[in-house]
Amino acid sequence: MTAGVPALESTGFGSGRIVVKYNPEYPEKKVYDRQYFITDHLGSVRVVFDQSGEVIARNDYYPFGKQHDNPALIVPTAPEDNRFLFNGKEKQLTGGLNLLDYGWRMYDPEVGRWFGVDKLAENYYSVSPYVFTMNNPVFFVDPNGLLIWIHFMNADGTEGKILYEVGMEADHEDDYVNAVINTLNNIYLNGGDKLIEMLGGGTENNFDIKNEAPLKGGDGGFSGNNGYQSPGGTIRVQYSTIKSMSFTGIEIMAHELFHALQYELGEGKSSVFKEVEAYVFGYGTTVSWAISTGSDMFSKTPMGQENEFGKAYESAFWDLVLDGYSQDAMHNTIQNFLQGASVNDRGTYNNRPLYSKPDANSILDSYYTGLNKRKK
Ligand SMILES: [Zn+2]
Repeated sequence: MTAGVPALESTGFGSGRIVVKYNPEYPEKKVYDRQYFITDHLGSVRVVFDQSGEVIARNDYYPFGKQHDNPALIVPTAPEDNRFLFNGKEKQLTGGLNLLDYGWRMYDPEVGRWFGVDKLAENYYSVSPYVFTMNNPVFFVDPNGLLIWIHFMNADGTEGKILYEVGMEADHEDDYVNAVINTLNNIYLNGGDKLIEMLGGGTENNFDIKNEAPLKGGDGGFSGNNGYQSPGGTIRVQYSTIKSMSFTGIEIMAHELFHALQYELGEGKSSVFKEVEAYVFGYGTTVSWAISTGSDMFSKTPMGQENEFGKAYESAFWDLVLDGYSQDAMHNTIQNFLQGASVNDRGTYNNRPLYSKPDANSILDSYYTGLNKRKK
C-alpha cells in the first residue's frame, strides 16, 4: 500500500466481508480473506469468524448499541479490525467520534441519540427528532428510514398515513388501513417477505398505498413518483378490492407490489417480461395463502386461451409458480403470453415489447422462491 493512494480495504457481501491483507514487504501481493458474521435479531454482529471457522471477534452490546468493554470477549490471537457492529452498521473512525453510519444519519451509541435530525421527524411529533428507534432499541431497527405508508382519510376529511410494520395488528380506526395491513401481512407470510423487506426497509424511498382508483383503470395500479422521474411511488388499490381478504384482492396487491419492486430495482420500461414477473409473484404468493387458509382459488392468471399458445403458456407459467424462476420457463411464458394468456384475451398488453432490456435477468430469482421450494 503506497501512502496517499486509495486501496481496497474490504468489501461487504451478504453475511460478512472480504478483507484485503497487504504484506508491507510485498505491497503488490494482496491476499483476500473472508470474514463471516453471526448476527442477532437486530442485525448486530455478535461473532466474526474466518474461512477456517476460527472465531476472530466477539461483541456484546448495551441496548442502545454501545459495545461491552469486557476482557472475556477479546480474542487474543486476532486483530480487532471489523468495524461493522451494532445493527450491522459501520463505525466511523473520522474524528475519533466512533459514530455509526446509518446511511443518511450518524448515530452515537454512547448516548443512544442521532447526530442529526430525522428527515421524517414530522411524523413523530410526540417523540424527539433525535431519538433512536422511538427509544425501543431492543425491538426496532432503523435500517435506512425506508417506508411503506398506508394512506387514509380522517373523519374531518384530512389525509392521514401510517407506517406499515411487518406483523402489525390490524386495529386501526380506519377500515382501509386494516385491510391493507392484513393483505401485506398475508403476502409477507406467503413468500413476499424479501419483497416487503426491500420496499419497507432496503431502500430510502417511500412507497404509498392509497384507496384510490388506479390511474389507468383496472383493479390495481402502480406509478413511479413524479411521472417515473424520481424514486418511490404509489400503489392504488381500492377498499372494495381488498376488504374481504379474497384471492383477487391479495393477488392484485401482490402484483402491484412487484411492479413497485421492479421500479425500485430499475427494471426499465413496461414489457411482457415485467408483467410475467408480476403475475408469477402475485399468483404464487396468493396460492400459498389460499392453501394455508383453505380458501378458494380462482383467477384467470394461470390459464391459457383455447389455442396452442395457451397450452404452452399455461404449462410454462405453472413451472415458474411451482419451481420458481428458470430461464427456459420464463422464456416460454413470455413468448406465448400475448397470443396465449387468458389475462390478455382482450389484447390489453398487445402493444408492449416482450422485453424491457435485452437479455434481462429476472429479479424473480431473488424475490420469489416457488411453491415447491418454499420452506414451511
Ligand atoms: Zn401489471
